[in-house]
Amino acid sequence: MTDRPKSITILGGGLAGLSAAQKFIADGWQVTVIEAEDHVGGLASSFETEGYTYDHGPHRLYSNLEELNEHFKFVFDGNWDYRDRLSRIFMKGKFFDYPLKASNVLKSLPPWLLFKSFWDYAAVRMRNAVRPIPDDNFENWIIKRFGRTLYELFFGTYTRKAWGIPCTEISSDWAAQRISLLNLWDTVKKTLFKPKNVPRTYVSRFLYPRTGGIGELARGYERLILAGGGTVITSAPVRRVDTDGDQVTGIVYEQDGVEHTQTSDLYISTIPLTLLVPMMGDAVDTPVMEAVNGLRHKGIVFAYIKLDREQLTPDHWIYIPEEHIAIHRISEFTNFSSHVAPEGKTLVCAEITATKGDRIWTMDDADVLELARDDLVTLGLLDEDEVLPGGWVRRVDYAYPIYDLTYRGHVQSILGFLKSFSNFESTGRQGLFRYGNMDHSIAMGHAVARRTIKHEGIDHAEIAAAEEYFG
Ligand SMILES: Cc1cc2nc3c(=O)[nH]c(=O)nc-3n(C[C@H](O)[C@H](O)[C@H](O)COP(=O)(O)OP(=O)(O)OC[C@H]3O[C@@H](n4cnc5c(N)ncnc54)[C@H](O)[C@@H]3O)c2cc1C
Repeated sequence: MTDRPKSITILGGGLAGLSAAQKFIADGWQVTVIEAEDHVGGLASSFETEGYTYDHGPHRLYSNLEELNEHFKFVFDGNWDYRDRLSRIFMKGKFFDYPLKASNVLKSLPPWLLFKSFWDYAAVRMRNAVRPIPDDNFENWIIKRFGRTLYELFFGTYTRKAWGIPCTEISSDWAAQRISLLNLWDTVKKTLFKPKNVPRTYVSRFLYPRTGGIGELARGYERLILAGGGTVITSAPVRRVDTDGDQVTGIVYEQDGVEHTQTSDLYISTIPLTLLVPMMGDAVDTPVMEAVNGLRHKGIVFAYIKLDREQLTPDHWIYIPEEHIAIHRISEFTNFSSHVAPEGKTLVCAEITATKGDRIWTMDDADVLELARDDLVTLGLLDEDEVLPGGWVRRVDYAYPIYDLTYRGHVQSILGFLKSFSNFESTGRQGLFRYGNMDHSIAMGHAVARRTIKHEGIDHAEIAAAEEYFG
């Protein structure tokens, strides 16, 4: 990509694809985005029905880079507010702050369990000092830092339930990026010795659109792309990627049952690797196909329940770890924005993890809504009489890349293969098989564009790759 091509085709209209498209437009390129769904936004989409606006679960937007936060505000075009995050764990009938706070744990756990927790913690620290526990899977990573009792209570059951596989089969990469506190002593110190009147950190504050849900970000990009003369084609799944030697020569997408070929100088894909690679036909050799077959995703079924009350809880989202309950998290959009439900009503989104084709995935919508409602009633969070008739269900099959113990090797060999095409890049959450956030996908889109246009900046593949906390 040393010459300056003038036309680019982007596969996938999620935040990675759209943010890259907007940068190429700003540099005068001819840009075409091709999206399978009838709307842009991908995972960060929003939907509006009967006066309710809802997202695919809770979406909190922030970046550690101030420049990126300013960029989000520019794309929102004034339609944004700051929110102060409240997220908790609901377990055994009690709320625990999340991230965990020692004061809260001390207050809410029975004394015998507290004693067991501290005993376990001390024992594990001593054992670790004599013979270090390897960080070779999620379970070991947490036990080493929190002890087994707290692991089981707050992390193990939830993670097993949400991922559907034993925690010993989940990579520690995921723990490193998603669990905020390094060890229990840090937790205690942070709670006991926290200086008074310290302003909230940016991490606890996030941006959210005043109206329209998180999908406003994608809609903002779409407006900028169209205003700049770009093209966004929706309801158009890409079906084939044609190659010749080290070049991608065109892509074929389907719209209204008709196949269309799109050619350009450069191609960027943000669609799942497991869909993309098989579309490349004979160019793919057996080891690469084996790597593709080794990657797995977790899907989510979202149940949206309308309630005849103003607010269920003040939380943005609540984790539900208990194993006898199917839902693993709920969120309430009216706590993100006061303009997303009719007056005096609220909408709760309950998430259940699933794999495409399994029992949960194939349930009728009415049964999913009933299951979610019954869970909330069993937990004591909801009164059945408050549930309004109707509600909606959405299913997303590529919600989470599964970080099992072999995913790294598979991803490396697939990305190595894709690198052999000199006019092609695969990026974003799906295109790198990376469990990142919205800001990461946007930063990836920007990095691909900056590298191509100006030959500078970091490599997009380095974003969200480090073992650092994502929040
Ligand atoms: C439940 C949930 C909660 C989340 N909460 C947060 C949060 O609080 N904060 C945060 O920052 N992030 C959050 N995220 C992550 C965030 O949503 C994603 O990281 C981000 O939206 C990914 O953008 P992307 O463009 O990389 O991928 P995607 O959004 O997956 O975009 C890929 C696009 O490709 C399209 N596509 C697929 N196949 C084809 C095809 N054959 N042809 C054409 N197009 C195709 C898809 O329809 C999609 O639009 C959450 C994710 C989930 C699932």
